[in-house]
Amino acid sequence: MNRFAWATPRTISEAAAAATTLVADAMSSDPTGPGVVTVLKAGGIDLLDLMKETLLMPATLVNLQQIPGLDSIHPGEGGALHLGSMVTLATLASHPLVRQRYPALADAVSRSASPQIRNVATLGGNLLQRPRCWYFRAKEHHCLRKGGDHCFAIPGENQYHAIFDNSPCAIVHPSTAATVLVALNATVELIDAKGTVRRPLLVDFFGPPDQDIMRENNLKPHEILTAVLLPAVPASVRMAHLKQGEKDSIDWPLADVAVLLDLTPDKMCKSATVILGAAAPVPHRAEAAEAALIGKHIDEDIARQAGRAALNGATPLSHNAYKLPLFETLVHRAILAAAG
Ligand SMILES: Cc1cc2nc3c(=O)[nH]c(=O)nc-3n(C[C@H](O)[C@H](O)[C@H](O)COP(=O)(O)OP(=O)(O)OC[C@H]3O[C@@H](n4cnc5c(N)ncnc54)[C@H](O)[C@@H]3O)c2cc1C
Ligand code: SF4
Repeated sequence: MNRFAWATPRTISEAAAAATTLVADAMSSDPTGPGVVTVLKAGGIDLLDLMKETLLMPATLVNLQQIPGLDSIHPGEGGALHLGSMVTLATLASHPLVRQRYPALADAVSRSASPQIRNVATLGGNLLQRPRCWYFRAKEHHCLRKGGDHCFAIPGENQYHAIFDNSPCAIVHPSTAATVLVALNATVELIDAKGTVRRPLLVDFFGPPDQDIMRENNLKPHEILTAVLLPAVPASVRMAHLKQGEKDSIDWPLADVAVLLDLTPDKMCKSATVILGAAAPVPHRAEAAEAALIGKHIDEDIARQAGRAALNGATPLSHNAYKLPLFETLVHRAILAAAG
């Protein structure tokens, strides 16, 4: 790891003014160039990983941990819930309002990574962590996402890669929380050094490779992700998140699914949201599965049909077709779990 300076701003505008460089830009330029790269650090789990591999060699880290107010969870307007970007995954998973109103989010986060990592990793850093593709994470592979001229995964070892929208880059989005947050129609709050605020939907903040192959989102230099805003959910909405990994903990999912169902008391489905994680470069909406549920009484058969429909349009690669039955089963089970 290179030597670096440490900045501890006390306000959002100081931090935003100091943060000259996006990690995505620093990784796609020459990392051994002049020491002008200044990046934001939250918990540091992903950032230090990249630095230890010398994929990223910043001159200065801007530590967000001393800025008051970014680590709170509190009710917002109209029954919404405000999640500060510096809230740790552990706090998020155990918070009573999150557990009560958004149990699928609490479940997804409580099964992410390990207890030690959840105590340090933050919500903002989790949404902005870089992809896990092993070619991307290896210095010797200068792939498309780092400014190179081809993808090593599509013709190579692609067992952990995408089964939807997997060309020209086949990453899966690495954030488990994002699967549920997209299902919940969450908004992110971003503030720049001049105090300008933008609040895009999380789904629009993320960007697929055909929009910009070197970035996973449209964060701008000098911008801080300050909060995630969750809209109120009607009492008739039930939700579930299920994850399947190679092992039970300390690993990203091979597949994960978030389901939200708006049900009548006799389990007639008024509306449905089905989002697949670890399936595509951004959390993937399974529209055919949603259509298979709307207007139906939720039972075993309908849940199975929706599980099959969730795979409409899948284009598995040479080593990841095993994900198809995995997603089919997870969607089926998540629908039944949500419906109770
Ligand atoms: C063994 C292991 C298993 C894991 N399993 C999972 C899993 O199952 N699911 C999952 O989702 N994740 C998993 N992770 C990833 C882990 O959760 C993330 O690395 C972590 O959440 C990143 O958060 P952080 O606060 O440490 O971010 P940092 O590493 O500090 O930052 C990450 C990125 O976000 C930027 N950034 C951070 N905060 C802000 C902000 N507020 N505004 C603007 N930019 C910001 C930084 O500049 C950096 O680019 C795992 C990690 C490990 C090591
Ligand atoms: S999948 Fe994307 S990140 Fe991985 S090697 Fe291909 S271009 Fe690079």
